[in-house]
Amino acid sequence: MLYIGCHLPSSKGYLAMGKHALSLDANTFAFFTRNPRGGSAKPIRESDVASFMRLYNENSFGTLVAHAPYTMNLCSSDPSIREFGRNMLADDMARMEYTPNQYYNFHPGSHTGQGVETGIEQIADALNSILRPEQTTTVLLEGMAGKGSEIGSKFQELRAILDRVELSEKMGVCLDTCHLWEAGFDIVNDLDGVLEKFDRIVGIKRLKAMHLNDSKNPMSAHKDRHELIGKGHIGSDALVKVINHPALRKLPFILETPNDDAGYAAEIAFMRSMYAE
Ligand code: FE
Ligand code: FE
Ligand code: ZN
Repeated sequence: MLYIGCHLPSSKGYLAMGKHALSLDANTFAFFTRNPRGGSAKPIRESDVASFMRLYNENSFGTLVAHAPYTMNLCSSDPSIREFGRNMLADDMARMEYTPNQYYNFHPGSHTGQGVETGIEQIADALNSILRPEQTTTVLLEGMAGKGSEIGSKFQELRAILDRVELSEKMGVCLDTCHLWEAGFDIVNDLDGVLEKFDRIVGIKRLKAMHLNDSKNPMSAHKDRHELIGKGHIGSDALVKVINHPALRKLPFILETPNDDAGYAAEIAFMRSMYAE
């Protein structure tokens, strides 16, 4: 069974997202837990979550992959931005428990001149102060393209953060095909080699979800520009190999391509048609 979906708007609540996903033949999806560029969050309505959880169970969805807001930077050089990020993370952890046992993905952060080492320590400190043993949510570090002072475009950096988090079992990794490619990993010609390297440095067990995107840029561009499947420099053949790879094929795949609903439905249908059951 291929678990595939896309990023969905969350403004109408959980049940609306579930129905939206089903209308696209998606059986997982991503959503922002709050305004991605601000940080404000709508109150959660218990009845909406309850209706959604019924729909979720009846339709055998895979694990959802929520996304933290872009404004969350746990390793900014500005202490007030770090504080803002920690508050959002703490509130998001509470919100995620309304839908138990799902994934919460976030960009590790940009060190904004402090250096990678300091950034990694600040990210881990934030996680150590917020994660709780009783939480059911698994928090995923997203591998990044390496734009500006972004942390997480090297597998060693992901490993260094994971090593410092005390509640290690609450942590995992989400890899994004566009980010991998733009970070300099040749997933077109050597997917096996890239995954072997990930396994050696981070451990393949840590890999919990994939973002499935083509890229507007050549390898190693470090720009982070997503493209429609088959319209970019990665190409559909390589992305079809990604969804079928033995180490990846059971993971949830989230499309974050620049699309409307019809485009997402077509990409989901295409990937389903290319998946070897
Ligand atoms: Fe992301
Ligand atoms: Fe992504
Ligand atoms: Zn991206």
